[in-house]
Amino acid sequence: MLIILLGPPGAGKGTQAEFLVQKYGSAYISTGEILRSAVKKGTAMGKQAKQYMDQGQLVPDEVVVGIVQERLLEPDCGQGALLDGFPRTVVQARSLDRVLGEMNSRLDAVVHIAVEEEELIARLTGRRVCRDCGATYHVKFNPPKVRNICDQCGGELSQRDDDSLATVTERLLVYKKQTEPLIEYYQKRNLLYTIDGNQEIGAISTQIITVLDQL
Ligand code: ADP
Ligand code: AMP
Repeated sequence: MLIILLGPPGAGKGTQAEFLVQKYGSAYISTGEILRSAVKKGTAMGKQAKQYMDQGQLVPDEVVVGIVQERLLEPDCGQGALLDGFPRTVVQARSLDRVLGEMNSRLDAVVHIAVEEEELIARLTGRRVCRDCGATYHVKFNPPKVRNICDQCGGELSQRDDDSLATVTERLLVYKKQTEPLIEYYQKRNLLYTIDGNQEIGAISTQIITVLDQL
């Protein structure tokens, strides 16, 4: 199964992906995570990407398309994959269609998690991420058992550089302008399933599973 998780920053894509990857055993492709890892390693691509990420802007299409194209060829993607945070522009969506066509593959569904803007700001500014395993928490909505410590690996939690209020505001504007048109793009192709992301984490997972199990 090849699934896209679509939605604004803070919608809960990563949170749901953790659960879905465990349940379905699919390969997980988060362009944001791949880029953050490149930034951490200080690679040439990471240095280029950091300039955009720090400003809340999108990294150029050709860079992310290249990342995803390479990643989709890895063996663990043979049975499909869960794409989180990609595509984010119509150019990326068209490139993905082309890449999948060349691989004789196709998308099964686009799960769109819809959340109100005010809630997104609260979620993003309170988000904490494990430095070691990347698990996601929220200071109020999804706190770890022990303050600042990851439940899963005991690692220290930290705040992402781009989760400051100023950058969050910019990222939400970028989403509206550059990514929201994808809703119509996938609706027209009969691939879009919209889930109300204003609910509790478990309720959203249940609804996504209902969609995926019917495919
Ligand atoms: P995304 O990957 O879409 O940017 P995340 O999965 O990282 O979003 O979630 C953003 C923040 O909101 C995290 O701190 C997460 O713990 C929290 N969160 C995720 N889903 C919900 C939910 N349904 N209700 C409240 N908080 C949530
Ligand atoms: P995310 O982890 O999905 O919130 O992404 C964090 C940041 O990485 C974004 O604000 C962008 O700067 C960059 N990024 C992630 N995915 C993409 C993408 N598909 N296209 C362009 N930039 C991306």
